[in-house]
Amino acid sequence: MSARRDFDVLIAGAGMVGAGLAALLSTGEATRALRIALVDPKPALAPLPGEPLDARVSALSRAGERVLRRTGAWPLLALRQPCAYERMVIWDSGAAVGGRDTLVFDAAEAGEPNLGHIVENRAVAAALVERAIAGGVTLLRSTVTALDLTRDVATVMLGERTLAVGLVVAADGADSPLRHLAGLGGEPTAYAQEAIVAHLRPAESHRGTAHQRFLPEGPLALLPLADGTVSLVWSTAPAQAERLVALDDAAFASEVTRASDGVLGTLTPVTGRSRFPLRRFNAASYAATRLALVGDAAHTVHPLAGQGVNQGFLDVAALVMELGAALARGGDPGDPQPLARYARARRAENALMGAALDGIYRLFTSDRPLLMQARQLGLGLASRAGPLKRLLVERALG
Ligand SMILES: Cc1cc2nc3c(=O)[nH]c(=O)nc-3n(C[C@H](O)[C@H](O)[C@H](O)COP(=O)(O)OP(=O)(O)OC[C@H]3O[C@@H](n4cnc5c(N)ncnc54)[C@H](O)[C@@H]3O)c2cc1C
Repeated sequence: MSARRDFDVLIAGAGMVGAGLAALLSTGEATRALRIALVDPKPALAPLPGEPLDARVSALSRAGERVLRRTGAWPLLALRQPCAYERMVIWDSGAAVGGRDTLVFDAAEAGEPNLGHIVENRAVAAALVERAIAGGVTLLRSTVTALDLTRDVATVMLGERTLAVGLVVAADGADSPLRHLAGLGGEPTAYAQEAIVAHLRPAESHRGTAHQRFLPEGPLALLPLADGTVSLVWSTAPAQAERLVALDDAAFASEVTRASDGVLGTLTPVTGRSRFPLRRFNAASYAATRLALVGDAAHTVHPLAGQGVNQGFLDVAALVMELGAALARGGDPGDPQPLARYARARRAENALMGAALDGIYRLFTSDRPLLMQARQLGLGLASRAGPLKRLLVERALG
């Protein structure tokens, strides 16, 4: 590798995925010698002890948990109490919860201790940044403003500062400025839904169960949190989302309680509400000369199955494996072959996941009678067919 380079790898974006990549590269046996820069204008700050949980949380599968454990970030999360969830209950608004057509995933039935954990996004990102810094990664609080990608070197502009690097990784989120700078372009397609996110206290214990009810306007999920509250992710039509966010607490509480069919009794808000646009995207290519895309910069999916950041962590694991193998052969982190292999494998996998989630979105938001029947039949069938259920659990576990 050339001595004229400032860094071997520069990662733009210290969200969960970019920070995960920095931490994994800096702790992996085959890659720890790399000189790595992690660039973000606003890297996540570790929450202070006693600070309430942030409203942005994620259902983390085994794939995400593995990255956190391998990098030593998992123990740092303990203070923020990741909540293991042991059951998932899914039903359609056309049927009663608990009936024949309710789909229940049970960790014990699958021989697993849990189905995953609900974790606080900023705590995950901050723990991974901390582990990356401990592993020798240089954190630059800055913004990538321009790129020049050539066969020999990638030149990265951070405002006035110019850095020569071997490989640039864009982990800069769904709108990814770097994807555009690299000429990989592409714009996400908006779903006709927005997600409302808030934490609420249920009258009845959630008993470590994640609930999801499919309403005609979109799915409503209640994810269990360690302090007994639940995290609401309610995907609905934008006009409805706007109306719900503007309600006072009492009116909002009664709407969420009704929309969740009272599955956990009366729900009382404990945080404010935020709205997020929902989009679908899979970049035409995940690699350009001396550049790779990971996480939301490469793909965005509907959050109905809690897969987005988990797909990002799978990108990270695949890229680290390819780079490690290339380095072991005496190669360079910016070599085109390992980048192409990474790009092909992960793009195909994420395309499948995106199509599956898009199919579920369409099936459950359709008001055509045949499709309405098909989805109830589908949930009931999945619930009763052992091997199909096992397959779905394995996919969800990652
Ligand atoms: C309502 C909702 C619920 C969700 N629930 C789940 C869930 O339960 N499970 C799950 O797996 N996924 C979930 N997701 C998806 C998940 O939140 C995303 O996949 C994940 O946050 C993407 O992380 P990222 O690190 O790729 O990008 P981001 O978190 O968007 O991070 C990008 C980073 O890049 C930085 N940046 C931007 N531009 C530049 C630049 N020019 N230079 C340097 N840095 C830059 C930004 O400051 C930011 O820190 C959900 C999404 C939504 C909207």
